[in-house]
Amino acid sequence: MDCLFCKIISGEIPSKKIYEDASSVGFLDINPANPGHTLVVPKRHSENIFDADDESLKGAIVAVKKVTSMIKERTGCQGVNIVQNNGKAAGQIVSHVHFHVIPRNQGDSVVISYPRKQTDEKELDDMASKLTRKKSAALDEEIMREMGRL
Ligand code: AMP
Ligand code: ZN
Repeated sequence: MDCLFCKIISGEIPSKKIYEDASSVGFLDINPANPGHTLVVPKRHSENIFDADDESLKGAIVAVKKVTSMIKERTGCQGVNIVQNNGKAAGQIVSHVHFHVIPRNQGDSVVISYPRKQTDEKELDDMASKLTRKKSAALDEEIMREMGRL
């Protein structure tokens, strides 16, 4: 498969690998937001979070936690951002699902920004019902069940 991260995982393309377990690897981002910026990727290929299987995602988030602890301990950073982009509109460049682990320090130059828009009770209610309205799709049922609404 012509996928950059699959090639990094297989070793065909070199990387600075700092973590590996049965389901995931972690390697340094080639253009780090801050020193230590690491990408955690499931070994099994999927494009994004919509396509990824649950086992890969579970493995990856546990790997993210371990990598986060390693980075905090070894760099002495004060905080960490976990960033995960899906789709071009959301800034995804590499089409193999991945989590950015970005070490942060007070006053550093990194900007992870989104607006805090004003809303109101009605808009929030409308959105909540739009997102939870019962439909026939299995996914909706699963979400509703998990929320205790079925
Ligand atoms: P995203 O925008 O979430 O798809 O991020 C993709 C990330 O992959 C970017 O932060 C790139 O700097 C990083 N990247 C691209 N090529 C490589 C590479 N060969 N090794 C390590 N990181 C890479
Ligand atoms: Zn891949």
